[in-house]
Amino acid sequence: MKTLKLAFILTLSLIIFSCGDEKKQEKEKVKIGTKKQTSNTGNAKEIEVKITGNDQMQFNVKIVRAKEGQKVTLVLEHTGTMAANIMGHNVVILKQGTDISSFGSEASAAKDTDYIPNGGKDVIAHTKMIGGGQTTSITFDAPAKGEYDFICSFPGHYGIMQGKFIVE
Ligand code: ZN
Repeated sequence: MKTLKLAFILTLSLIIFSCGDEKKQEKEKVKIGTKKQTSNTGNAKEIEVKITGNDQMQFNVKIVRAKEGQKVTLVLEHTGTMAANIMGHNVVILKQGTDISSFGSEASAAKDTDYIPNGGKDVIAHTKMIGGGQTTSITFDAPAKGEYDFICSFPGHYGIMQGKFIVE
């Protein structure tokens, strides 16, 4: 059991490590694409952020960063194999002051609107709900500086599948 746990941790760090590499590559891509505008990659006008979700109900990242006014393309990939009606994932960025638990329970009852309750009034941006093997993306303007919560609004997932979207 102990060995298993160690193997899991090792795999996890490998994943985190390789993600870091990927991010570096993306950053370099951004640098090439925006050469005309600025040499500072940190202030690129557009960024792409990738989040993955798996069959264990986990996002691969807990923190996503952007700069105020940046055009953010958020790519969500479901790396598992389970269907969207059993292990669906989305990314929902909540407006500040939204209570995650209340939103999460309202979302559970909002199957007809892809688990986005109240016409999306508490939401800054959200992807559609996807199942294993699928990828989806959204593009939106980063909101004002501050910390925002993001969750998966599939019933029962928000407790574990949540993180911070930090705008600097
Ligand atoms: Zn989910």
